[in-house]
Amino acid sequence: MESSELIVCGLCGNEFDPNGPSSAYAEAGEWLAEEVWRDAGELCPLCRENRARLVMMYCHEYYR
Ligand SMILES: [Zn+2]
Repeated sequence: MESSELIVCGLCGNEFDPNGPSSAYAEAGEWLAEEVWRDAGELCPLCRENRARLVMMYCHEYYR
């Protein structure tokens, strides 16, 4: 297990802990990263949250 290793976010460049605290938005963003953008595990929780918020605002077809 490499649980304590930090990952550099592919979007904003910040280091983050992949096992750090999550939120509902971050979890939605994680699902999107896996199903839509295919870059799961490369984005920090903040970027996943921002992406999930944008998708919920503009792309309602993902949440039917
Ligand atoms: Zn980021």
